[in-house]
Amino acid sequence: MIIGIDDTDSPNGMCTTYLAAKLKKKFKIKSTLRLIRLNPNIPYKTRGNGAVAIVTDFNHKIRKEVIDYITTYSHLSHKKTNPGIAFVPKLSRKKQIILEKFYRKVVSEHVSIIEAEDTAVEIGAEVIKFKNGRGIIGALAACGAVLDDKTFELIAYREKRNYGQERKINFQSVFSMNEKFYPKCFDSVDIVSNQILITPHGPDPIFCGIRGKSSMVVKKAWNDIIPLEKIEFIQVFETNQASDDHLKWKKIREIKPFDCVKISGKVSSNPKTIQGGHVFFKLMDETGEIDCGAYRQTGEFRDVMKQLCTGDEIIVYGGIGRHSNTLNLEKICIEKLKSILLDTPPLCCGRKMTSSGKNKGFKCRKCNNKIRKVMKTKVFRDIELGWFEVPPRARRHLSKPLVRFNRK
Ligand code: ATP
Repeated sequence: MIIGIDDTDSPNGMCTTYLAAKLKKKFKIKSTLRLIRLNPNIPYKTRGNGAVAIVTDFNHKIRKEVIDYITTYSHLSHKKTNPGIAFVPKLSRKKQIILEKFYRKVVSEHVSIIEAEDTAVEIGAEVIKFKNGRGIIGALAACGAVLDDKTFELIAYREKRNYGQERKINFQSVFSMNEKFYPKCFDSVDIVSNQILITPHGPDPIFCGIRGKSSMVVKKAWNDIIPLEKIEFIQVFETNQASDDHLKWKKIREIKPFDCVKISGKVSSNPKTIQGGHVFFKLMDETGEIDCGAYRQTGEFRDVMKQLCTGDEIIVYGGIGRHSNTLNLEKICIEKLKSILLDTPPLCCGRKMTSSGKNKGFKCRKCNNKIRKVMKTKVFRDIELGWFEVPPRARRHLSKPLVRFNRK
């Protein structure tokens, strides 16, 4: 059986991974816990839209205990907390495919509570709703996650008395760990902004999370970290993080609010930088046109966007945010740069000739020589073909860093 749990926390605290880790300890569950990230554009999320799945033997005691745990520890009084639990029995191949398809939709698009209930009935899973029960969407999806490009995260939990306090960690130990383990461990620091990224900032029980390609490597990396406060315990999770699982190829016309997509198209307006430093341009394919944005938080990534020109052929990866129909960029691949030709004045008497007016050619100020023929010069494009991504500090949990491309 797989047990899925979601939406137990609130901005005031708690964390679904913590509840799952406590259950694992209590029932001495041997299997690795799964931390499954879902559509990052969903407005109901508290932080990173994560749900948890626990693979275990069927046991009525566990079922009751899970329900009691969620009832006791969830932040039920918070208006945005709507927990859900899914108990998924061993499935036939056909039902497994239905559940996988459901996961693929939840990780990439917007899904209704009714769709989750219908899927549960179709595959014979039990779902338990608290309050409006939206958590069953994530709980059921987590049970169907296909971890064919899985990564691992070691989460260290704080002692309760430290919740809400600033996290105390030896800053240098994180940079040294990164130097030793990168790229086997990734997104631990942001070199450009000199930030450590493994510690969150909220009142939740998480002290830090170290991401990497195997369970062994994240455990080794943790041994190099120097926490300056007591840690309650650590737990390693298998995850779909850094997999790009959320991105689906779509044509512009097919895109709906909250979708996570990959689109191939042509730049159809030159980039503009607006107040606040956000950069926007339009992209078109044969079905339509869409605004693409690289926000201030994406830092140096915007410098690449600013160099794009109308006619450039690119692939964009990103998501439709909560507040507009703009595609927030996560990565782009520049496939073809448009050649830009500019009229350039010819030389005469060792100097550049001056324009005689629009379409009237050029004249030499010194000898009065006139030339009607205009020379064209290819403008140097200060940009290369290939992939560009946002820096680690602006990366979504599900986004695959380029350093993981072609790596298993
Ligand atoms: P944390 O990362 O701290 O665990 P969170 O950011 O995961 O918190 P939740 O509290 O789990 O946020 O809330 C997310 C809610 O959105 C859940 O109820 C989940 O079922 C629901 N949800 C997740 N994905 C989708 C989706 N694609 N469509 C609709 N609802 C979704």
